[in-house]
Amino acid sequence: MTSLPACPQCQSPYTYEEGSLLVCPECTHEWSADDSQEPAAKVYRDAVGNLLQDGDTVTVIKDLKVKGSSLVVKVGTKVKNIRLVEGDHDIDCKIEGIGAMGLKTEFVKKVG
Ligand SMILES: [Zn+2]
Repeated sequence: MTSLPACPQCQSPYTYEEGSLLVCPECTHEWSADDSQEPAAKVYRDAVGNLLQDGDTVTVIKDLKVKGSSLVVKVGTKVKNIRLVEGDHDIDCKIEGIGAMGLKTEFVKKVG
């Protein structure tokens, strides 16, 4: 008996094998058993496809409203020392005059 990995999408333990795939009965997610052994490291790319890394400097490519405030991060704003994280907003950063906030990689461009 091999124990099957939990669903990577909803963490359900009730996964089962179907051919070479693993299937989750709860969220209907299907994935390959082989891939689940070694999940590929997440690759972060900016709006034009440059690879992003922790510590990079980026500029914002469109005006972004700051949730829950009237502040706007203007297009062209330079953001230093980004930190890449999991999630919908996959950049953690601090912006001068605004403070700590999350950005999306699709709305930034790497500098340099
Ligand atoms: Zn699931």
